[in-house]
Amino acid sequence: MMAVKRGWRNVDTNGTRLATWPPLRTFSAPGVPVAALLDDGVSLYNYPTGIVSELDGSGAVVSSMSMEFGGGARGFNRRGAGGRRAVRTAVWSGTMTPHLSMQTSEPTSFGHGFVSGLLSAILGIAGLGAVLCLHFPEYLTQADLRAMYSLGYLRAAIHVTLVASFLLGTVSAFLRANKMLALIGIGFTLAAALLGGSGVPVEGAVSRRSWLGLDFFVLNLLLYSAVFIPLERLFALRASQHVFRRQWLVDLTYFFVNSLLIEVLAILTLTPALIFFDWARVPWVSATVASLPLILAVPALLLAADFTQYWIHRMFHAVPWLWPFHAIHHSAEEMDWLAGSRLHLVDVVVTRGLVYVPIFVLGFSRTALALYVFIVAAQATFIHANVRWTFRPLHKVLATPGFHHWHHAAERDAIDKNFAVHTPIWDILFGTYYYPDRWPSAYGLHSRGDMPARWTAQLLYPFRRRR
Ligand SMILES: [Zn+2]
Ligand SMILES: [Zn+2]
Repeated sequence: MMAVKRGWRNVDTNGTRLATWPPLRTFSAPGVPVAALLDDGVSLYNYPTGIVSELDGSGAVVSSMSMEFGGGARGFNRRGAGGRRAVRTAVWSGTMTPHLSMQTSEPTSFGHGFVSGLLSAILGIAGLGAVLCLHFPEYLTQADLRAMYSLGYLRAAIHVTLVASFLLGTVSAFLRANKMLALIGIGFTLAAALLGGSGVPVEGAVSRRSWLGLDFFVLNLLLYSAVFIPLERLFALRASQHVFRRQWLVDLTYFFVNSLLIEVLAILTLTPALIFFDWARVPWVSATVASLPLILAVPALLLAADFTQYWIHRMFHAVPWLWPFHAIHHSAEEMDWLAGSRLHLVDVVVTRGLVYVPIFVLGFSRTALALYVFIVAAQATFIHANVRWTFRPLHKVLATPGFHHWHHAAERDAIDKNFAVHTPIWDILFGTYYYPDRWPSAYGLHSRGDMPARWTAQLLYPFRRRR
């Protein structure tokens, strides 16, 4: 007997949804972990055997053929014995028995417990982080951010977050066979509640300078996931790519560590310029630049920063002993907002530290600098996103997802191209602009070589002796 469950969809090889099929059925049969009904309901795809069977009306197998894998991790191209019959990528659903998995295999559309589970997990992580911040504000929170919260509102927000996470987690656990998101959401929420929840007292004024920004991570996580997860669902370039694609946990670790270390990274970024380039400041230049209206100062700052960033980035690609630090960024094989976080700490410190030099020497105002920091964080995330927007005809002045996706493309002609973050102008000027009128077929390192898969191993990777 086959168990039938609703919910799967047909997409083409670019990940564009072809159709939503009303019956949308997948099967799990004894000895067959997953099978999916294809096309018109007469073909059955068996995972992991890769055999496609044509079925008659009663469900009996009439003929079989093997399936060739291609596209994304969960995609396959369907080819018949006589060549390309219908190239179509299908997304199959996982086994329908309750299970825990870090990979998304069930439908992610509304009504399948995915949206509720995802919200529950994000809110649960944020809630626990916030409760930890209440416990250890002197170690985990940033003075600049602390000045911005009112404790009363913050407690109410934490309380609502924890209740919402718990309820959404319960909804997801009911609707979804894979209970992982619900477990993460409810688990983190319960841990937060056991640690005192939103009622943890904060005694006295907090004056100690903290080295860790857990509050910054929590805010970043809430803000970026609230903006980019819906954006990537609604305007997906590759619709078959999930929020929890391969290696998402590695990239989340980068996101976590690089946010948590904000204070350390800021000091490492700002100090070298202050110490080594103070001599280069010319008083009348700094005075003029500092007094520029923001409407001129911000674009000028962006151009100057991007010029520096262009050459540092190009240097990371060209200098053999520097490349391993930056190769980590290029080892992402699926592009989304989170993939942009995949940066080795040395890459982050060297790039930011050197980019800050001309900003410091020219003497831009603090407001211009603050706006620049916001823009660079947002744009650097956005250009990695899994969105299909090309912004033509602005693509020659504005660095867009299309422009930067080509920087990550695993295609020969795209090697060492598109180094800028803000504007392709520098690439056009220095002969490294590459933007054909299509999207890359694949991303990642041209030769994967010995790049390890884990965060810790990647941290040590550039320091490893090579034979
Ligand atoms: Zn690069
Ligand atoms: Zn990138």
